[in-house]
Amino acid sequence: MALPVLRLKRGREHPRTHPWIFKGDVASVSDVAPGDAVTVVESSGRFVGRGFYNPRPALCCRILTRRDEPIDSAFFMRRVADAVALRTVSGTPSTLGRLVWSEADGLPGLVVDRYGDVIAVQCLTLGMARQRASVVAALRAAAGDLPVFSADDPIGAGHEGFVPARGWVDRPGPASVILEEDGVKLQMTLGGGHKTGLYLDQRQNHRRVAEGAAGRLVLDAFAYTAAFACHALARGARAAVCIESSAEALAGARVNLALNGLTDRAEVVPANAFDELRRLDREGARFGLVIIDPPPFARSRDAVEAAARGYKEINLRALRLLEPGGRLATFSCSHHVSDAAFEDICREAATDAGVTVRVLDRLTQSPDHPVLLTVPETRYLKGLLLELV
Ligand code: SAH
Repeated sequence: MALPVLRLKRGREHPRTHPWIFKGDVASVSDVAPGDAVTVVESSGRFVGRGFYNPRPALCCRILTRRDEPIDSAFFMRRVADAVALRTVSGTPSTLGRLVWSEADGLPGLVVDRYGDVIAVQCLTLGMARQRASVVAALRAAAGDLPVFSADDPIGAGHEGFVPARGWVDRPGPASVILEEDGVKLQMTLGGGHKTGLYLDQRQNHRRVAEGAAGRLVLDAFAYTAAFACHALARGARAAVCIESSAEALAGARVNLALNGLTDRAEVVPANAFDELRRLDREGARFGLVIIDPPPFARSRDAVEAAARGYKEINLRALRLLEPGGRLATFSCSHHVSDAAFEDICREAATDAGVTVRVLDRLTQSPDHPVLLTVPETRYLKGLLLELV
């Protein structure tokens, strides 16, 4: 049976390496139910690829394949197997980390994370949500017959017009799991917290930032469940202060500190990080390692200017809290703030603080969040590890 056809406007048909089609790119669409697959063609009728169509969001179609092939369960089997193979080292598939990352794995609209013996699936588009059963079957074929938890994001689902699934897809798994990152235990509760549970994109940075933490007093601002603080304390940091505004995250932080026997050396502060950093500065507090890992201040291009002010302010305050030789690990997870822009912001903050800092390292997302050069949105997490000279 011939699929419905989405015809691109003339002039939007340059060789496409980016999978996104916006409503403004579309000349016409034949009769198609929201979430169904369409064949995308140029205005001349030449085949471009296939993807799921949804008339509701501005981003109405993401190309899943550029081949003339059906998007069926065999397609998901192949793509998921490729994604899992990419995370397989010496024949051993990853048991902690991202297994599928949307566009970067040729599966736009699908995020899959592995947490030990549990798999968490997040569908971001209506089309993908309707393929959940095929996705789950493909995951079990590639990664083992594990319990699978649906962790759809309610906001994204709202934009796409589907009911977000939150819960076990069939047989239930454990309510929570304890995972280990470099000997540090982190608990994650299925269906709780942010993302699918943990900030897996920061895993290699947890380790890098903790190097050299021995003997230092640590400030983990925007701490979530205190992963940075736990790693730093496990590496011999003297003590840590964790600032976090979400009650649920704070509870998780307390659990993780206790799991690692670090409660005595840690203080968990429920506060707005902006206010708390100002207060600590007024008090004359000084730290040997400060971590600033805020949520994305710029969720759209229009928000970049306001975001830049937020990043600058928080970094200025953090730099003022460093003792001589102190380190700042600072991050932005806003795709719209480029590496260069983020460096400029940190440079301005250092200039205003009147301090000289050395760049010890440039940090990015973990390699299980691969980057496609032609899809710049896949590169979003950036960080600087700075040292006060
Ligand atoms: N560093 C963490 C992830 C941090 S995510 C890790 O590696 O696991 C950002 C966190 O900042 C979220 O937990 C969010 O609840 C918190 N947050 C957002 N705005 C805040 C504010 N103004 N003050 C304090 N915490 C805030």
